[in-house]
Amino acid sequence: MKKEERAGIIISELKKLYPHAECMLKYSGIPERLVVATILSAQTTDAAVNRVTPQLWKRYSTMEKLSSADLSHVEELLKTIGLFRNKAKFIVKAAGYMREFGLQDSIDELVKIPGVGRKTANVVIGEIFGKPAITVDTHVKRLSGRLGLSTNTDPGKIELDLKKIIPEQEQTMFSHRLITHGRQVCKALKPLCSACALRNICPS
Ligand code: SF4
Repeated sequence: MKKEERAGIIISELKKLYPHAECMLKYSGIPERLVVATILSAQTTDAAVNRVTPQLWKRYSTMEKLSSADLSHVEELLKTIGLFRNKAKFIVKAAGYMREFGLQDSIDELVKIPGVGRKTANVVIGEIFGKPAITVDTHVKRLSGRLGLSTNTDPGKIELDLKKIIPEQEQTMFSHRLITHGRQVCKALKPLCSACALRNICPS
C-alpha cells in the first residue's frame, strides 16, 4: 500500500475515533499563554503543565508582569515539572519578547521567540491562527514511524514528510488526533495493538 493511501485511511479512522480531539493545554483563550504553556510542555505531560499554570497566571497575569518576574519565584512555581529551571528562564524571556513584538502568524517569526521551536510554533499556528499545522511532538514522532508515514527521526523532517501526504485542511486535526491515539492506544512502551483500529494497515 502506498504511503498516501495509508495516510488517507489513517485520517479517516482517526476522525471516527477522536472526532473532537483538541489541544489539551489550558490557556484561557489568551494566545501568549498558549506559547508559555507549550514551552513548559517539553518532556512533560500536558496534565502536569495544567497543574502549574493556574498559579503562574494568578501571580503573573500579563506578559508584562511575567517578563519582569523574579526568576527564583518562577522556578518555585514550576518546580513540579521537568527542566523547570531552563523553562523558567525561557518563559520570562519569551514573555518579554511577546510583550514587545506580539505574536505573528508565521513559523519563521514565531521561532524567534526565546524557547520556541517548530513544535510550539506549529501549535500556535494551528490553534491560534487556524492555519494548517503539523505538530511533531513525541507522540507524532513515534506514531509516524510505527505507521510507516515517515522513516525520519528528526522532527523537522517528519513534519515535512507528513505535510506531503496529509491534505492541508486535515493537518491540524490530524496532529491532535494522532497525539490522542498515542496517549490512549499506541503508547510508547506497551502499544495496545490488539485493540487498535489501525492494526490492519499498520506496518508495525
Ligand atoms: S497497531 Fe500497534 S503499533 Fe500500530 S498504530 Fe496501533 S497500537 Fe500503534
